[in-house]
Amino acid sequence: MLSNLVLESESLNKILEGKNVPIEDYFQIFDASQKDGTELFKVAEKLRRKNKGNIVTFSKKAFFNIINLCKDTCSYCTYKAEPGEDKVSLMSKQNISELLQLSRKYKCVEALFVTGEKPEQKYPEARKWLKENGFSSTVEFLIDSSERALKEGLFPHTNAGNLTKDEMRELKKTNVSMGVMLENISERLSKKGMPHYLASSKNPKARLEVLKNSGQLSIPMTTGILVGIGETPHEIIDSLLAIKQLNEKFGNIQEVILQNFQPKPDTIMKDFPSTDENYFKTVVAMTRLMMPNMNIQIPPNLSPKSYQSFLSIGINDWGGISPLTPDFVNPEFTWPEINKVEKNSNDAGYDLKCRFPVYPEFMTMINTELKERMDSISDEGLVMESYWR
Ligand code: SF4
Repeated sequence: MLSNLVLESESLNKILEGKNVPIEDYFQIFDASQKDGTELFKVAEKLRRKNKGNIVTFSKKAFFNIINLCKDTCSYCTYKAEPGEDKVSLMSKQNISELLQLSRKYKCVEALFVTGEKPEQKYPEARKWLKENGFSSTVEFLIDSSERALKEGLFPHTNAGNLTKDEMRELKKTNVSMGVMLENISERLSKKGMPHYLASSKNPKARLEVLKNSGQLSIPMTTGILVGIGETPHEIIDSLLAIKQLNEKFGNIQEVILQNFQPKPDTIMKDFPSTDENYFKTVVAMTRLMMPNMNIQIPPNLSPKSYQSFLSIGINDWGGISPLTPDFVNPEFTWPEINKVEKNSNDAGYDLKCRFPVYPEFMTMINTELKERMDSISDEGLVMESYWR
């Protein structure tokens, strides 16, 4: 045990000095820190302060639940609807325009466009919806919605599952960033009885391909992992390593979201326990250790009582917070009020700033027209206070 502790502390010192350590050291640190995370948390805090100062960011957003029919089924998902269910969302062009106008009244900056995975491949209802709105694919609908968002003064960020390279190339013209969660790199989680068994789009190879394409297209990309769905700590490290390597190759991963699993009543995993907070904190701090420079986000609504305690173990972003729309992916967890998040951040010693859906250091990847739109309302790459307060 003593030798493990010595090794852990030697590796942590090397990481603090900016040196590389072998992957086995990460496994060792993770295992040791689950018993006592004190040393790991201290190092994560130092790295966070060194790389991100005392700023914590968020994006003031409206969530556009464009279509929640989905050809896949993940065992933890309550976002997906089946035709005929009360929660089905099939937004019309008119709905989009109305919500965009309301979003600006609430001074939102980001239009988050979310859809299920290729709904038109499985559901006649989705094909009918597209036809009624004058489109032949969900991506055409997304392109039209993104153009409308820009006209209203909002900045689109699309999260529509496994888009093709051509689809992403088209969306890049209007979207300042895009997102797709890796969830986890483990193929084991796609086996029978596991959460991604009925979700071919969540196959790690398919997800890595989307992320690789985003890199080749220089799209500022958000990705991340879902923590607590039956993975092992080693699979967490492997997943983080995959994201780190992608970013080393393409330099376009703008942030890593760490999402703690919470069971949803109407899902296959309804009786699975919520992610243990200490385990989740170990994952958060490990992410800072493995990617000292990365923007690291946890959603505050999923840790309502303790989110501020994550500031001192590595995170520097709260992600999108909406003053207007629910979190349709986690409908039972309402967003905290932005004022409250600001007070809690200040009390913990951090300043809250509103960012665009693209982080300042990734602005160089954006086309001139989009960049000029942001420049006119930005303050050092972040959103001018008067535009969002
Ligand atoms: S998580 Fe995404 S891919 Fe999985 S069922 Fe839900 S909407 Fe579909």
